[in-house]
Amino acid sequence: MADLLSKYYLRALELDVTYKCNMGCMQCNRALGVCPSQEMMTIEQIQKVLSESLSMAKPYQEIRVLGGEPTLHPQISKIVIALDWYRSQVVESSISIWTNGHGERVKQELKNLPAWMRIRVSHKKLKVGGDEFEPFLAAPIDYSGICLKDYNKGCSQIAIGKCGVGVSLYGIYVCPVAAAIDRVVGLDIGIRNLTEISSERLREQCGQLCRYCGHFLKDNGLILPIKTVSDTWRMLIKRYKKRRSELTLY
Ligand code: SF4
Ligand code: SF4
Repeated sequence: MADLLSKYYLRALELDVTYKCNMGCMQCNRALGVCPSQEMMTIEQIQKVLSESLSMAKPYQEIRVLGGEPTLHPQISKIVIALDWYRSQVVESSISIWTNGHGERVKQELKNLPAWMRIRVSHKKLKVGGDEFEPFLAAPIDYSGICLKDYNKGCSQIAIGKCGVGVSLYGIYVCPVAAAIDRVVGLDIGIRNLTEISSERLREQCGQLCRYCGHFLKDNGLILPIKTVSDTWRMLIKRYKKRRSELTLY
């Protein structure tokens, strides 16, 4: 392929600071409606990834803080301090937080954020479905005609730069959706140091994780009902409820 990944992966860093969310949407592309979690990145992990970015030849200029609902991280004020330090080091940096804007606590936390932090509100119209959603719990490997596709290229979410590189408490991934898939599937293939990132490593992650991702289907012409849960996801959800995967921490 024309190496889209080699251009993509230096664009933006997306930190899933917590998987805690006050909405639990069914089609959440972190699978939080069906496989809920209270897990979160520690302040040390956030400082680590920011420091690693600074040690790169070209530090990331765009940092997005996501989740889950990021304002529900109990140490959100310390996250803000860490990011303020980062922006003092990378003068042109742009830092944003992506929130569902839902509930009193979230609204209060948003009021406390500094003016330099751009707030992006992604209102979720309905817990099951709504304009913000497309089927996510539909694994491409469950659909004939798509199951044998080349997953190594990822999907248009990364080609058009909608996503950035994802960081979770389990490491660095091609996108935050891939990080969330791995927390359920348990392949444990997060990159452990940002300086080790390469298009080859990200392509390998795509090869192993995009096969579970509903976003891959639309690119391949398969439009499914919003509430679709495919066989593989039924199995993954059942297994998650019995026993969660143990992954190495970042
Ligand atoms: S608000 Fe966003 S993060 Fe939370 S469950 Fe819904 S889609 Fe997932
Ligand atoms: S198919 Fe899913 S996991 Fe793969 S690159 Fe696209 S959004 Fe990320």
